Amino acid sequence: MSISPAITADLLLSLRRQFGADCVDDASQAQSRYGADTGAGRTDLLGALRLSQAAQISTALAMLNPLGVPVHPISSGHNWGYGTARPASDGCLLLDLSGMKRILDFDAELGVVSVEPGVTQQDLADFLDQGRHPFLVPVTGAGPSCSLLSNALERGYGVTPISDHFAAVTDLEAVLPDGSLYRSMLAEAGGSDLARLYRWGIGAYTHGLFTQSGLGVVTRVSILLARRPEGTEVCLFSLRDDSLLEPAVAAVRGLMQRLPSTIGGINLMNRHRVLAMSAPYPFERLGPQGVLPPEVIAALGQEYQILPWTGFCTLYGSTAVLRGAREEIRRALRGLASRLMFVSPRRADQLARLAKLLPGRMGSSLRRAAGTLRQSLQLVAGRPNETALPLAYWRNPRPQPEGVARNPARDGCGLLWYAPLVPMRGSDARRFAEFVFRTTQQYGMEPLITFTTLNQAVFDSTIPLVFDRQDDGAAARAQACYEALLSGGRELGFFPYRVGVDAMAQLRDLAPQACAFQQRLRAGIGAEHLIAPGRYS
Ligand SMILES: Cc1cc2nc3c(=O)[nH]c(=O)nc-3n(C[C@H](O)[C@H](O)[C@H](O)COP(=O)(O)OP(=O)(O)OC[C@H]3O[C@@H](n4cnc5c(N)ncnc54)[C@H](O)[C@@H]3O)c2cc1C
Repeated sequence: MSISPAITADLLLSLRRQFGADCVDDASQAQSRYGADTGAGRTDLLGALRLSQAAQISTALAMLNPLGVPVHPISSGHNWGYGTARPASDGCLLLDLSGMKRILDFDAELGVVSVEPGVTQQDLADFLDQGRHPFLVPVTGAGPSCSLLSNALERGYGVTPISDHFAAVTDLEAVLPDGSLYRSMLAEAGGSDLARLYRWGIGAYTHGLFTQSGLGVVTRVSILLARRPEGTEVCLFSLRDDSLLEPAVAAVRGLMQRLPSTIGGINLMNRHRVLAMSAPYPFERLGPQGVLPPEVIAALGQEYQILPWTGFCTLYGSTAVLRGAREEIRRALRGLASRLMFVSPRRADQLARLAKLLPGRMGSSLRRAAGTLRQSLQLVAGRPNETALPLAYWRNPRPQPEGVARNPARDGCGLLWYAPLVPMRGSDARRFAEFVFRTTQQYGMEPLITFTTLNQAVFDSTIPLVFDRQDDGAAARAQACYEALLSGGRELGFFPYRVGVDAMAQLRDLAPQACAFQQRLRAGIGAEHLIAPGRYS
């Protein structure tokens, strides 16, 4: 539905009167503030409204609903690789909730925190540090500036013990399109204290309806935090030969089955992916296909000491539990893994200090590796940082910003995430890796492959299609590559757990019945075209 210019002007005026002129952008202001994306697409905005209190959301929706003005809520708007702050449809009023920054309550005994949309990973880290509360922030690779609430709503995942972020959400509240409030049956009938502690509540489980959907604007979530364990370690290992992938997947599956509460997660990364985190992109060594030829990858692997596959496993537990887990992991990977080592935060600090003493090229490459390892350990210990963000800048020829927080969309990085689920079988991992290699090369994209365990049966594979955003040809190729991965992967039995705004139409075509069901839910709630139209429906 498109809103006439006269109605839009009146609407913006009313919103300014109601919420203050500073809180409202017209279309062009909104476009310049929120329009930057790491993808190739563009969505036209009607304007933007910044709110800082939950009560204002009800007022705003009650004003917008009768006019049929659609809103698109964002919490931090850093959905990089999936559309950033862009809605899936043109003509939305962007509802920016990043100013809602209250930590509404915290139970220090039970480790449950309730937060508003604008509370970021860093906000929670500061809060926990100040109170010396021994709990972990549910961090992601997207870094300190990202909201906890929206990552959970997108069903994102991270590296700490409760890695599935929506699984940690016990309770939520939302404002429905007509301005009324949604609360769970347990919260309403049994009290909010109990609701914060038990995710299933009573009666039909409805919280999940507010994830990856546009059924309401979520104003608070309660999250169960993992307690800081006595020890945190990572186990690093390599596979000397590509042919070891299948038995390594079987070994990883066995470890996930045997040590489910000690292992946070296991990542298997191919050489390209580790290079993207370790070495600057060698633009001068590009081959005729627009990607690095195999001999260059092999030479870089030699130079940076990166074997065909690298494993990264996070471990949490008491000293005795970690000791046992180390033994178990060594046994499971015997004959498969090379360079297997366990690194604690203390060991990582020692390595970083040692690397500082080494001279020359060898010293500088070791310093970089030790620095990344140290930061990765901080991340897995629940301390948010930007260690994963440089990946988005790999094929961006402009210098990375210094002294300010990284923001790939603002900095002109090109990135689309293809994030399909892959069954945890060696044969599937092999078919998938070959398919990704073939398809990415066809479109001039580097095949950066990670398999991350989501449980003992399935990986999520994250494939970042990185490119120079200012090169229109590269942006179009990345988009075409994404589409080929989505459709080709589906034929082979692989499909994403989450997609970007530009893939919503493709999703609708592939799942018409499921989308029709979503649409019926939306219609029942009165949200048909009103909240995040076109998202997953
Ligand atoms: C290098 C790199 C590494 C990354 N690593 C990870 C990772 O480890 N794990 C991961 O999950 N992601 C990762 N990402 C992807 C992404 O950046 C994060 O998932 C990020 O947290 C999502 O953006 P956001 O939280 O700012 O969400 P927002 O952009 O604020 O919101 C995302 C969507 O959620 C919905 N939404 C937001 N707020 C509300 C609300 N209050 N009510 C209703 N709906 C709402 C909207 O539809 C919105 O479009 C990574 C990105 C990069 C570039």
